[in-house]
Amino acid sequence: MRTALCLYLKVDNCLLAESGRAALSLLLDMLWFQRGTVCNEVLLPAYTCYSVAAAVVRSGLKIRVYDIDPSNLSPDMSSVRKTKGEGTLVVVGQHLFGIPTDLNGLQTWAGEEGAIFLEDAAQGLGGLCGERMLGTIGDVGLFSFGRGKPLPLGCGGAIIASDREIFLDKIPIHPKGIGCKQLLMATVIQILAHKRLYGIMESLPLGLGDTTFDPSFSTHAMPLCMNRLGSNALWFLEALNEHRCSRARDYHDIFQGKGTIPIPAQNKPVYTRYPVLAGHGDIPNELRRYGVRRMYPKPISDDVRIQPYLSSGNPPIPGAREIADRLITLPTHHQITRETAYRIGNQVLEAFALK
Ligand SMILES: *Cc1c(COP(=O)(O)O)cnc(C)c1O
Repeated sequence: MRTALCLYLKVDNCLLAESGRAALSLLLDMLWFQRGTVCNEVLLPAYTCYSVAAAVVRSGLKIRVYDIDPSNLSPDMSSVRKTKGEGTLVVVGQHLFGIPTDLNGLQTWAGEEGAIFLEDAAQGLGGLCGERMLGTIGDVGLFSFGRGKPLPLGCGGAIIASDREIFLDKIPIHPKGIGCKQLLMATVIQILAHKRLYGIMESLPLGLGDTTFDPSFSTHAMPLCMNRLGSNALWFLEALNEHRCSRARDYHDIFQGKGTIPIPAQNKPVYTRYPVLAGHGDIPNELRRYGVRRMYPKPISDDVRIQPYLSSGNPPIPGAREIADRLITLPTHHQITRETAYRIGNQVLEAFALK
């Protein structure tokens, strides 16, 4: 998988691990070691995946947050400038839902601060920002192969580095074994992802699809059999992304710009899910059965489990709160047909009075 991924992304430096958070935490450990103890803060988008926060905490670092603009999910640069960092080790920018986000301002700011700029493309494998592949723009790029990601192997993650000063091959990583459990899990997820059964999956009390914050995860290598599976699966990535984008176009036609995120013409999104700023309120059961849900319940800095690890000097985050309150996400995966997308889209229009 390592070679295949490097070829696909046209990079020569790549670290594979059992999850995205494991790869991220191993990278943070190394950077902190290299740069000394003064730089102990990581700047994160206030609305992001809880496992990013967990990776920072696992590495013993502090979290600082910046706000996000709800209209296009990009960094609110005025809020970035308000964060008072004393020792910023890493600045993280992201492409949520595989929607390419303009991270130029954030990247420049990170450079001025002397921080490493990490591009979180966990949801963006295969997307383009102009000519450049998502994840290859930052000093380092993060990818995940977990459930719901562009290449959903069920587990696994990767870090790539364009900066030759970042020696990914020097990071010690221990083998995980063959990975039968992961393979079984991937199969179960495939079966559950079947249209009729999708409702069951969403209602299973397995913790699937909910947001846990657990900094005690392990950081082994990618399991052997997933590693094999991964290099072959990469061949299907374009087809999977193509399908997601055509479902996104269907949703786009239905919503006609009401609550949707605009995409500049030169960019190619991935659409792991289709986001709509629909509004407050519960999602009706029928839509939940189709897999319509909110993404992360709160900004990370509003979660009491994460708050002990925040540094001081965090700006207000009204944008991230608005996203957490108003954003719903619609499924685009390979089991969703155009017909289903239309049914889901029209029900959302109705349920949230977007007409
Ligand atoms: C899934 C995800 C991660 C972490 O990946 P895991 O493989 O689940 O650890 C990081 N960032 C974002 C935006 C994600 O969606």
